Amino acid sequence: MNCPYCLHEDTAVLESRGLPDDLGVRRRRRCKKCDKRFTTHEVVVNIDLKVVKKSGKVELYSRDKLLKGVSKACYKRKVESEEIENLVDEVECKLLNRKTVEIKSSDIGKMVLSRLKKLDELAYMRFASVYMDFSNAQDFKRFVLISQKSLSKAD
Ligand SMILES: [Zn+2]
Repeated sequence: MNCPYCLHEDTAVLESRGLPDDLGVRRRRRCKKCDKRFTTHEVVVNIDLKVVKKSGKVELYSRDKLLKGVSKACYKRKVESEEIENLVDEVECKLLNRKTVEIKSSDIGKMVLSRLKKLDELAYMRFASVYMDFSNAQDFKRFVLISQKSLSKAD
């Protein structure tokens, strides 16, 4: 793995951390030339998972897309990018352990939400409003009320 900063070939592994269920590994590396640090993430790339959108449209699962969605919800909140990566890792593991290759986008949304709720309340709300695709404002209000109740229960 070449250094992304100076393209030097020799990098040292500082730390390796396995992802749940041996589905991949994350490595902290340090370039032996420029001394900058970076993280590599080795995962199975070709997961045959199809996401069924609310419209009925089917598209291939994209980690990148999910990562972007969660990051957007966490914009300017105190959530580390590491925490976001972990969240997506967890969701992916769940997805890979399912017996079917198709999943509804709203089911992925729910998996993310149950984890996001523990990280940041506002990020959770933001993600819900985008991902859950509420058909009207009334739906969203109801959702907010329910989640506020369950949040206060959790405290
Ligand atoms: Zn370097």
